[in-house]
Amino acid sequence: ADELSRAFELEGRQIFTSVSIGIATSAARYENADEILRDADIAMYYAKETNKSYVVFDQIMHARAVSLLELETDLRLALERDEFELFYQPLVNLDDVSLMGFEALVRWNHPSRGLITPGEFIEVAETTGLMIPMTVGLLRSACEQARAWKEEGLAPESLIVSVNLSASHLVQRGIVDQLRTILFETGTEPGHLKLEITESAVMQNAEHTINVLNKIRDLGIRLSIDDFGTGYSSLSYLHRFPIDTLKIDRSFVGTMEDGSENGEIVRTVIALAKALKLSVIAEGIESIHQFHQLRILGCEYGQGFLFSRPLPASEAAKLLVDSSRWQNILPPN
Ligand code: C2E
Ligand code: MG
Ligand code: MG
Repeated sequence: ADELSRAFELEGRQIFTSVSIGIATSAARYENADEILRDADIAMYYAKETNKSYVVFDQIMHARAVSLLELETDLRLALERDEFELFYQPLVNLDDVSLMGFEALVRWNHPSRGLITPGEFIEVAETTGLMIPMTVGLLRSACEQARAWKEEGLAPESLIVSVNLSASHLVQRGIVDQLRTILFETGTEPGHLKLEITESAVMQNAEHTINVLNKIRDLGIRLSIDDFGTGYSSLSYLHRFPIDTLKIDRSFVGTMEDGSENGEIVRTVIALAKALKLSVIAEGIESIHQFHQLRILGCEYGQGFLFSRPLPASEAAKLLVDSSRWQNILPPN
């Protein structure tokens, strides 16, 4: 490896190469040559991933590779078999605890493992190219749901359904046409749809993102920056994003005690949102104490287990018709 890492010259430039070696030993008693090469290959990729010059294949690597492969295969089938389902978590006006809409969150109805949350499969969906086709399906389903609730007379005129959009999807060519088509084909008023894009995603390629977001906004779709506070926003960009809402990440809301650092961050984000004329949603409200604190700080909207966990559409519909659902949380006046 030392010999190989020495620089060589190519058209007057110094070029460096590196080597990663994967080793599989015959101790595992392989039946044929393909198998041993496959495992050496897996070890080689592991070496690359972990920046090592060589790695010896072991059983843990084997188990990891098998379960990843299974997940990938199952995910592909999931799309064909329509196993993705949206759950809806209420977005609540903290002033009068009325329901302003829902965040749509994907769940995977796995045939043998049951309901799987996005933390377990989003990354793999991203690396296997399934994210965009999955999201297109979810966007359609969210739009159809919003329209259905309106037609059934359940939804207020101002109902918002908020869908998460990944960074790679946002910079995909044709995203604007895709959204236009979905709105048109599902007969959805664009004002009902909101897209959530994480702070780190919008900052990745800010100039290009501003351009795309402007076009999405021109369609009448609203925009939120998700997980705000975790992504090192450049404040000089923030006011140029054509967004409506900042969502304060739940890591700050969850541990906002009186006078704590996170409490100060929440206070600052609320002030920032007001200065930029944006609305603000606090994520992850779990306790009445947090609810009261946020009201005192002037936070307009919130979401969290205190109000409800994400629910299947049929359960969410019940919340739409129950106007007294959270009145008991309000302080007596
Ligand atoms: P997110 O967009 O920030 O969504 C909020 C997450 O916080 C959800 O987790 C929700 O269940 C959880 N949550 C809400 N209130 C509380 C609370 O009071 N306490 C606690 N501990 N958690 C709470 P979930 O559904 O597991 O989703 C995790 C993340 O996966 C989402 O974070 C989002 O980034 C991503 N995700 C979910 N659905 C989609 C999707 O359809 N497309 C894309 N691109 N990403 C998605
Ligand atoms: Mg979100
Ligand atoms: Mg979030």
